[in-house]
Amino acid sequence: MATAGKPTAVVIGAGMGGLVGAVALASAGWQVQLLDGAPAVGGKMRQIAVGHGLVDAGPTVLTLRDVLDGVFARAGTQLERHVTLEPMSVLARHAWPDGATLDLHADVERSAAAIAALAGAGEAEGFRRFLGHARRIWQTVEGPFVRAQRPTAAGILREHGLRALPMLARIDSHRTLWQALGQFFRDPRLVQLFGRYATYTGCSPFLAPATLGLIAWVESAGVWRVRGGMHQLAVALGEVLVGLGGQVRLQTPVAEIAIRNGRATGVLLQSGERLAADCVLFAGDASALGTGLLGEGARQAVAPTPVAKRSLSAVTWCMEAETSGFALVHHNVFFGADSQREFQAILDDGRLPTDPTVYVCAQDRDDAASATGPERLLVLVNAPARADVQPLDAGALDRCTEATFAQLSRLGLRIAPTAPPVRTVPETFARLFPASGGALYGAANHSWNATLARPSARTRVAGLYLAGGTAHPGAGVPMAALSGQLAADAIRADHAPRGAGARLSAAWEVAP
Ligand SMILES: Cc1cc2nc3c(=O)[nH]c(=O)nc-3n(C[C@H](O)[C@H](O)[C@H](O)COP(=O)(O)OP(=O)(O)OC[C@H]3O[C@@H](n4cnc5c(N)ncnc54)[C@H](O)[C@@H]3O)c2cc1C
Repeated sequence: MATAGKPTAVVIGAGMGGLVGAVALASAGWQVQLLDGAPAVGGKMRQIAVGHGLVDAGPTVLTLRDVLDGVFARAGTQLERHVTLEPMSVLARHAWPDGATLDLHADVERSAAAIAALAGAGEAEGFRRFLGHARRIWQTVEGPFVRAQRPTAAGILREHGLRALPMLARIDSHRTLWQALGQFFRDPRLVQLFGRYATYTGCSPFLAPATLGLIAWVESAGVWRVRGGMHQLAVALGEVLVGLGGQVRLQTPVAEIAIRNGRATGVLLQSGERLAADCVLFAGDASALGTGLLGEGARQAVAPTPVAKRSLSAVTWCMEAETSGFALVHHNVFFGADSQREFQAILDDGRLPTDPTVYVCAQDRDDAASATGPERLLVLVNAPARADVQPLDAGALDRCTEATFAQLSRLGLRIAPTAPPVRTVPETFARLFPASGGALYGAANHSWNATLARPSARTRVAGLYLAGGTAHPGAGVPMAALSGQLAADAIRADHAPRGAGARLSAAWEVAP
C-alpha cells in the first residue's frame, strides 16, 4: 500500500490506543491502515442497540482531555470540532445500605461541604488532605512515568539520580490504597468510596498501591460527558484518520503478524489477504501476542499476563427503562455492605459477588439530572476475569442479575425495563477482546511495581509495537490514548533518519 515513498503502518485494533496511534502516525505523514475484527470502531468504547436507542456499553466519561486535545491538534484540527464535550459539575452520586447518600462535585469545596454534612468537619478536612496527597502523586508520576516512553524503577533512578528516592517515596506505592485511605478518613463509607478508584483500572483497593489515589486528583481536574456517548470520540478519531488519508477496515480480523528475519513485515488477514507494511502496531490485548494467537513469530514479542495477575472483568446490562424511587444523576454508585468480601469473592474465588457494589450510568441525565419517560442505563458490577479457565455458569450469572437489581431496589432505585436488557458477561468480553480472559484493563496493578512492569510500545520483535490499555501507561481512555501517542512516537523515532532518531526517542528499552 506504499504511496509516494511514505512509510507505511498497519494498526491492528481500533480501540482508543489503536485509533490514537493511527491518527498520530497519519498526522506525521505515514500511510496507515487501521484494521479491526469488530463491525465498528471503538473497541470497549462500543455502543449497543437497546429499545429505541444506543447505549454506551463501555467507558462513559472523559478525563485528562488535554491528551485528546493534543492528538486532534497534531492532526490539524480541534476536538470540539468533532464532538461536543459537556463538563460535569456533579461527578457522582453515592448511596450506602444505611440510607446515606453523598454527591462528589467538580468543585472541591462543594464536595468538602457534602462530606462535612455526611460525616463531620474532620472528614472534610481529611478529604482536602487526601486531594493534596493525590495531587502530589500525580505531579510526581505524570512526567517521568505516565507520559514517558518506558519507565522502570532503574530508569527513573538513572535519570533523576538521588532525587528519585523521595520521588519514589512520594508516589506511596508501598502500601495499599485501602491502608492509605485509613490515614485520611475514619468514616468507613468514605474509605469505601475513594477505594473504588482502584476499580477504575480493574484493581482491588485491598491490593492496589495507594498511588492510584491520584485518580481523585485527575477527576477533580475535570470530567466531561460526550454528547451522543463516548463512542462518538472513536467515530471522530476514525473520521480524522480518513481525512488524513488513512484507511479504516472493519470486520477485518488479523490472523497472523508476518515476521521475516526477526522483523514484522505486515499481516495476514483471516480472509487470506496479506498486507505489507514498514511496521505493525498491535493495539489489542497484548496477551494475544504472547499466547501465540497472532502466530508463532509474534509470540516472543511480549509475555502474556498470567491468569492470577489479570485485572477485573464485569457483568453489564445495557437497558432502556423507566426508573423511580432514587434521583439518579449521570454517574451513580450503590455500595454493597462489605467491599473486602466482594473483592475476595471475585479475585480469590473467581465468583460473582452476592452483595455487589453497583454502578449505574444514567446516560440521558446531565447535571440537571432530569429524565422523563424511558431512559438509557448502563448497569455494571465487577466480575472475575477467568472466562477461559473458570467460566461462569448460567445459574451464577442469573443469581448475579437477581442480586444486582435487588441491591438497587434495596437502596431505593426501581428499574422497569421498557425493552429487553442486553447483558454482557466476562465470557463475552473474552470473545470480543481475544486473550484477555475477560479482563478489561490488562494486568492488575496489584503490587508496588506492577505499573512499571506493563509492556511498553517497543516489543522484542523489531517493527512490532504495542498500544492500548494493556500496554504502558495503562488502562482507561486517556491512558490508552497516551499509549497510542507513545507508540507513534517510538515508531517515528525508530524510522527516522540516523541522528534525528535521538531527538525523537526517549529511553530505548524493550518490553519485559
Ligand atoms: C464496561 C466497561 C467500562 C469501562 N469504564 C471505563 C471508565 O469509566 N473510564 C475509563 O477511562 N475507562 C473505562 N473502561 C476501560 C476503557 O474502555 C479501556 O481501557 C479502553 O477503551 C481500552 O482501549 P484499548 O486501546 O485497549 O482498545 P480496546 O478497546 O481493548 O480495543 C481493542 C480492539 O482490538 C481489536 N482486535 C483485537 N485483536 C484483533 C485482531 N486479531 N484483528 C483485528 N482486530 C483485533 C478488537 O476487536 C477491539 O476493537 C471501561 C471498559 C469497559 C468494557
